Amino acid sequence: MHGLSVRVRGIVQGVGFRPFVYQLAERYKLVGWVRNTNRQVEIEVDGGEEALADFLRDLREAAPPLARIDMIEADERPPLGFSSFEIVESQFDVGWQSIPPDTATCDTCLEETLDPGERRYAYPFTNCTHCGPRFTIIEGLPYDRSRTTMRCFAMCEECRKEYEDPRDRRFHAQPVACPACGPKLWLQRSDGEPVEGDPIDLCAGMLEGGNIVAVKGLGGYQLACDAANPEAVARLRARKRRYGKPFALMVPDVEWARRLCRVGGAEVEALQSRERPIVLMRCRPDVDIAPQVAPGLDTLGLMLPYTPLHHLLMRRFAGPLVMTSGNLSEEPIAIGNREALERLSEIADAFLFHDRDIHARYDDSVVRVLGDSVVPIRRARSYAPAPLDLPFSATHDILAVGAHQKSAFCLVKESKAFISQHIGDLENLETLEHFQSSLQLFERLFKVEPTVIAYDMHPDYLSTHFAHEYPVPSALRVAVQHHHAHVVSAMVEHGVREPVIGVAYDGTGYGTDEAIWGGEILVADWKSFKRVGHLRYAPMIGGEAAIRKPYRMAAGYIWSLCAACEVDFGTFLGLVPIGERILLRRQLDSELNTPLTSSCGRLFDAAAALLGIRTEALYEGQPAVELEAVADPDVDDIYPYDILRDGEGWVIDPAATLRALWCEVRARRPTPTIAAAFHNTVADSTRALCLKVRERHGLERVVLSGGCFQNALLTRRLLDGLTKEGFEVLTHRLVPPNDGGISLGQAVVAYALTPGS
Ligand SMILES: [Zn+2]
Ligand SMILES: [Zn+2]
Ligand SMILES: [Zn+2]
Repeated sequence: MHGLSVRVRGIVQGVGFRPFVYQLAERYKLVGWVRNTNRQVEIEVDGGEEALADFLRDLREAAPPLARIDMIEADERPPLGFSSFEIVESQFDVGWQSIPPDTATCDTCLEETLDPGERRYAYPFTNCTHCGPRFTIIEGLPYDRSRTTMRCFAMCEECRKEYEDPRDRRFHAQPVACPACGPKLWLQRSDGEPVEGDPIDLCAGMLEGGNIVAVKGLGGYQLACDAANPEAVARLRARKRRYGKPFALMVPDVEWARRLCRVGGAEVEALQSRERPIVLMRCRPDVDIAPQVAPGLDTLGLMLPYTPLHHLLMRRFAGPLVMTSGNLSEEPIAIGNREALERLSEIADAFLFHDRDIHARYDDSVVRVLGDSVVPIRRARSYAPAPLDLPFSATHDILAVGAHQKSAFCLVKESKAFISQHIGDLENLETLEHFQSSLQLFERLFKVEPTVIAYDMHPDYLSTHFAHEYPVPSALRVAVQHHHAHVVSAMVEHGVREPVIGVAYDGTGYGTDEAIWGGEILVADWKSFKRVGHLRYAPMIGGEAAIRKPYRMAAGYIWSLCAACEVDFGTFLGLVPIGERILLRRQLDSELNTPLTSSCGRLFDAAAALLGIRTEALYEGQPAVELEAVADPDVDDIYPYDILRDGEGWVIDPAATLRALWCEVRARRPTPTIAAAFHNTVADSTRALCLKVRERHGLERVVLSGGCFQNALLTRRLLDGLTKEGFEVLTHRLVPPNDGGISLGQAVVAYALTPGS
């Protein structure tokens, strides 16, 4: 007889780890006990030497599907003389508990739900320790049914039996439920009472009839309608006041995804992963989808069903459904039943309600395959709040509040970074409240008490004000430059501390010279950066208005950068109404509300305007997204550009590029060819500048970050170009390249600058 004391850390709670240990102990005839504490699972076992070795091996290799093991420590000790193996009471004091985020329905639960012989047949809330809701229903930790929104459902005898049996896959599955004791579903018209009948059947019927139904999902309400019905989709757009941005679709299965899109191996994997995100993919031509779903784009965002409710609905409807967040444009997603009725009854014709409350708002996550990796574009349901492992352990708790768009905060405790779910653009009261309540919940759940606050240098962001007013007067407050934060967010994902060449291409970020940066090449480490290159400044005539009217950006480039060239832009400028043209010119000459920008996003806007692709943008980045959509990826042409010396660095001057582009437009070359050549030129000029930086600074590693790297064509071209030159190129895999990932970089910069860290 030998003895072992074992400690297991990672995501090992709320995943069926203790019953797994129990069953292993039974198999190897071991005696002792297992218990949860806040930081780890603790195990004491006595048994034969070989049996203990097998036990340890299986502990690591056969762990339950949702477990993530970071560390197993085992110490030998003399046997303690146990008589049986038991799961003993949990011990929780301070600290946080690592449990997984919400997870898509597992195969076993799905089979049960679809099997008429099972007691959970057609039950939309079937779940087990391997799947189902978690942080959307958790009100407090330690994780226990009494601290979730399941507390008001008393388990029936059969559910309790499963819940208490360590051999059952529902042992301590906190949201366990069945038709006899669990949450119920019903359909209700916006103007009336619940409708009699099978709610899934009624809902599918309404959708077939062209109606819009608000479906209560996992992290909030979704608005659903028949994706093949142009009239229904158009009505949803008008009612939701969402005019440009594409809608995501839910499809019944992978076959359906293949019918609509070009689905590669990485995409299938992402679609079927247990996070079940929306996957952006290239659309096939002439599919039977209403054109209003993704106007002007060559991509569709598809996801597969991820709750039993979705599975049942998709089986019954048997076609693609628009599934978009239940909100008015720019507001947070609705979660409460009464809230949904108040906020969505002007949009939805009916509601598919249930009575399991959602405690925390989580939008659907979005990913895209860029280069060879699956990159998060929106990190929300099923990703947050799983912590990221940091390559250091912080002595102070840190809060980083993010920037302005695609807000998500980051809390650092020791070696973990808890990044919130996507919250939205911080520009209305509702979103700010969502930010604040999510932060309070995270601080409480993960026991974080920040004494270091990191924020964006922009003086006017709501997040900056929030950081200044954060109610810990003694906190150290650290302003972080926007693009430095972008670059560091990508560095830390790869555990890189040493200086890199950071390419940060995005729409808008406050520069240290108060100009609007966004086409930046930095030499950066965690503490500091040096701006070694950028796109040449161009005027944004009318400031923000130039974002909404891309032709203003084009006019700004023409008048300032291309003024001396002999190419005639007259026919382009002739498209700008004469009154506005005179006004713009005057505004430029007087420098009135005409900030300078080096933004790569704005350069894309100008190119899209010159190509006649888009003169008015309904959302930021729309011209660039449409420019990418039309580009022919088989074109290798590159337009001219100049790289100018600028003090100790360089400036990419795109004047020659825009001239060449305009000449091609006038020569009536096909738009897809010109759009592609423009992408190639941006990538090639960046490659050329990186070469100069390497020569001067001896750096071999390039990091790509910023919203422009959501553009698959630009990313691939630049990756290829840099790799051919022998650079090591690091891109995002864990957090979005857009501002949704920036809080991670802010937190790490603040860590590096904190005395004594
Ligand atoms: Zn399950
Ligand atoms: Zn039950
Ligand atoms: Zn940015």
